[in-house]
Amino acid sequence: DPRIAGISSSIRVIPDFPKPGIMFQDITTLLLDPKAFKDTIDLFVERYKDKKISVVAGIEARGFIFGPPIALAIGAKFVPMRKPGKLPGKVISEEYSLEYGTDKIEMHVGAVQDGERALVVDDLIATGGTLCAAIRLLERVGVTVVECACVIELEELKGRVKLGDKPLFVLISST
Ligand code: IMP
Repeated sequence: DPRIAGISSSIRVIPDFPKPGIMFQDITTLLLDPKAFKDTIDLFVERYKDKKISVVAGIEARGFIFGPPIALAIGAKFVPMRKPGKLPGKVISEEYSLEYGTDKIEMHVGAVQDGERALVVDDLIATGGTLCAAIRLLERVGVTVVECACVIELEELKGRVKLGDKPLFVLISST
């Protein structure tokens, strides 16, 4: 798709953030470019508008930027999947492992119903640990995860393999 090149060139890479050796993919520069931002949302909307998705689950924090405009355009609800201790109501949570230690994501009880069809959205997939935890959380309450969608995939980290047979759609694969 001819729109991908413009999206790709609008993303900035910042070396050694948040620590030495990390090449951080910074999507805030994509947001500064209205055409690139709109093209990003449009590409997802074109893909998901007829897939009977009832819920877009966005992962904190940058899934909260891309998820809601997709949800509005396809007529789905938006559910935030947050870091521990942020959601005020009763939550269910899923732990996942990091390079050192573990982390957790949480979702409000009652936000989704058994039998719903979800799209999980984040800005980027690295190892895939975060998306896998989000999928487990939704499946525990009877939701079908139709697909995961990210702007960027860091291909070398093989997150796609960790997702197994769960479909992953990305706009940009970065090596
Ligand atoms: P994973 O769980 O290893 O796949 O890491 C994915 C999570 O880390 C996502 O929520 C991303 O927003 C975040 N992340 C990891 N690396 C980057 C990066 O280079 N840019 C932006 N976000 C990143």
